Amino acid sequence: ETLANQIAAGEVVERPASVIKELVENAIDAESTKIKVEIEEAGLLKIIVTDNGNGIPSEDVERAFERHATSKIYTTDELFRIRTLGFRGEALPSIASVSELTIETAEDKKTGKHLYLKGGEIIENTSAQSRRGTIIKVEQLFYNTPARLKHIRSLRTEVSHITNYMNRFALSNPDISFEFINDGNQIMKTVGNGDIRQAIASVYGVNIARKMRKIETENFDFKVSGYTSLPEVTRANNTYITLIVNGRYIHNYSLNRAVIDGYSSTLMIGRHPIAVMNIEMDPLLLDVNVHPTKQQIRISNEKELGQLIKEAIYKQMHQEIR
Ligand code: ADP
Ligand code: MG
Repeated sequence: ETLANQIAAGEVVERPASVIKELVENAIDAESTKIKVEIEEAGLLKIIVTDNGNGIPSEDVERAFERHATSKIYTTDELFRIRTLGFRGEALPSIASVSELTIETAEDKKTGKHLYLKGGEIIENTSAQSRRGTIIKVEQLFYNTPARLKHIRSLRTEVSHITNYMNRFALSNPDISFEFINDGNQIMKTVGNGDIRQAIASVYGVNIARKMRKIETENFDFKVSGYTSLPEVTRANNTYITLIVNGRYIHNYSLNRAVIDGYSSTLMIGRHPIAVMNIEMDPLLLDVNVHPTKQQIRISNEKELGQLIKEAIYKQMHQEIR
């Protein structure tokens, strides 16, 4: 069982950033309105994710560390309809199997639970008087999988991966207040009042937020709304393009391309904007189960969607230039 979890961990928990991604997704799924992420030494020494969500019922906490013990028992097709981010029930057991993990979790006005696991084995199991929500502390990540540890090149690269995830989470969930602390320094904090532009200001700065323009367009299949930076604000790569489909941050090459093309067909060939695009569509048009991390998705009529986005951005940029 431990071995199976470590093997699964190879897929789900590639690096500290993937641990943070899974833990934050769980916090979002638990309907948290505040999520704090603290890391030390790029997450290799310590990761703490604190949320104010629903908590795990005391009697279910142990089971959450068994494989495929998801409480979100939906088919993958339903995934984008139901809007929970997790569904495989692999993350907690995988993370626990390659670290020392402490969890404190409580439902509202109930006695909570405290568990401490090492390499996936439960060492401590007590009840805990906690507030509503969940705190998960992951220490000594990959201590028992030296190969994985060796794979990690530099702490700086790891921190930038984590920062990217945190930024994307903040931009795709403007109604949640996120806080990100790296080695004791507050890197980012959003208000969580539902305003995307506010989230953009917290992530990229107030000056950038002022130089973003609203994009809105739709057709029969798709509804797109978001922000793109003015031509004077460009970036050298696509790290600053955030695509959100039905509330989920995704990777999609051709849609990224559409954003860049709409933007750069005006003046700045090959330049990348800062952009946040919210795309809503019928979940039936989606296939998410392409990769365990759930970020690569296929969309039917992807070309049509790309065209729609490209034209809307092109139009908006043209108005600005005139
Ligand atoms: P999945 O998210 O795919 O269901 P995970 O291994 O990530 O699987 O989590 C297992 C279960 O533990 C979840 O289904 C959920 O019930 C519970 N859980 C995990 N993290 C939290 C959290 N922060 N708040 C509430 N419940 C949680
Ligand atoms: Mg999960």
